[in-house]
Amino acid sequence: MDDGRHVRQRLVAGFGGGAQDCLRASSVLIAGCGALGCLIADQVVRAGVGRVVIVDRDIVEPSNLQRQSLFATADLGVPKALAARARLEAVDPTVRIEAWVDSIDRESIEDYIADMDLVFDGFDAMEPRYLLNDVCVRDRVPWVYCAAIATQARAMLVQPDGPCLRCVWPDPPPSGALGTCDTAGVLGSTVAIAAGASVSLGLPVLAGGKPGAPALISVDTADGSWRSISVSRDPACPCCGHRRFDWLEGAWGAGTAVLCGRNAVQIRPAVESLLDEAGWLQRLAQAGSFAAGQGLVRGSLDPSLTSGLPLELTVFVDGRAVVHGTSDPAVAATVCARVLGG
Ligand SMILES: [Zn+2]
Repeated sequence: MDDGRHVRQRLVAGFGGGAQDCLRASSVLIAGCGALGCLIADQVVRAGVGRVVIVDRDIVEPSNLQRQSLFATADLGVPKALAARARLEAVDPTVRIEAWVDSIDRESIEDYIADMDLVFDGFDAMEPRYLLNDVCVRDRVPWVYCAAIATQARAMLVQPDGPCLRCVWPDPPPSGALGTCDTAGVLGSTVAIAAGASVSLGLPVLAGGKPGAPALISVDTADGSWRSISVSRDPACPCCGHRRFDWLEGAWGAGTAVLCGRNAVQIRPAVESLLDEAGWLQRLAQAGSFAAGQGLVRGSLDPSLTSGLPLELTVFVDGRAVVHGTSDPAVAATVCARVLGG
């Protein structure tokens, strides 16, 4: 919309001249519309990106409202993608907003990134980021890694010929090694730092500018550290070096199985856990009431983490998890992503 709304942005070096037209001609994917996705989508729509595609499988819950800035109380129970679209269309009706209530997985991801100029990572777990890295490296689509947990924020632009996620972290962390927003918590202000860094890295790409040297932005507001860590391409990288797309092609990340007749779904982690029973008990302390014994930890999940469903969770010390009380793999995967990460 040329009603003067971008006049301040045009004054900034790199955003004058034809840059606004470049933004208007761009398509971006917001992969996940939780706290990060909300803030990123809001900023790219306001910046004048022409087409914004939002994909998210969840509905708005009360615990989201602390930091998921596109949602209000009236949106509770509404799919996040649809609530986000409604809000963003009100912000700028000339931006084409597409919303899909869907999981981004091996089957769907290629369709979603097919005609994208840039992908923003709004995921809440590491595994889908490896899948996104695979498909973006293979298809030469730039993407921005973005993560926030507790007081830590991170962001990194992955360019087609630059270092990729697996140059920095060849493998995802072992199951349970990292907390999740549902177990370790997150500050809204931390999310804002991560999202702001991501958009700052991604927008110049869309505006036709030249990105800076590859770097991982890493901030911890608890100890006041703000770092830009130089990263470089690893010739031995399995993904961009050896062109092995383990997540996309199925060697990894295919660990979900419905346990027939048991109303339960098993999720096998990509990387085995290093935690013992005590470690898992501590990890799950905020997720419900759990007890350990015989190589596993078992208990009832807090209903606030399960959309009210009465679900039980068993985690074996190797990280294998069984969600009891559902036979829907998507429900089990959502719960495990929230509670276990990965
Ligand atoms: Zn790489």
